[in-house]
Amino acid sequence: MKIKDILEQQGKREIFKVTPDTAVKDGLEIIMKKHIGALLVMDENDKLAGIITERDILWRIYKDGEDALHKKVDDYMTRNVIVGIPDDDIETAEQFMTVNRFRHLPIMEGEKLVGLISIGDIVKSMAGSLKVQNRYLRDYITGKYPG
Ligand code: AMP
Repeated sequence: MKIKDILEQQGKREIFKVTPDTAVKDGLEIIMKKHIGALLVMDENDKLAGIITERDILWRIYKDGEDALHKKVDDYMTRNVIVGIPDDDIETAEQFMTVNRFRHLPIMEGEKLVGLISIGDIVKSMAGSLKVQNRYLRDYITGKYPG
């Protein structure tokens, strides 16, 4: 399975984006209201400039208290974003996430952002293919296939 298969399963899902000058409080509001874990930060040319996740915001609130909410996304976002491409294998994406300890992977085609997958999407798709494999093995063992 490839990342493009997950993107296909997701269908037309909105990718929530903010700009670096967005207030952290406004970013957090999007995260809470839309039940998502991350926002992609786009610069004035609509290029990927960073990522900010619920974990970044939680950590900053823990450290700085309410002041954190009045900062800009730019102050707290991660700038060196690791990205995937649609042709990457799902196992590769899972490796990126486990080795680097993050749960969100923007997917790019050249300079163009084409999707965002989370560790949840990966677990779901791996569980799905295990279920299918399991079913075929069970049918094979119980003699449902001729020959
Ligand atoms: P997460 O587990 O996705 O909430 O992210 C944990 C940390 O990794 C946070 O500091 C994020 O800003 C950062 N992060 C999340 N996704 C990525 C990514 N694709 N590339 C680089 N850093 C990331």
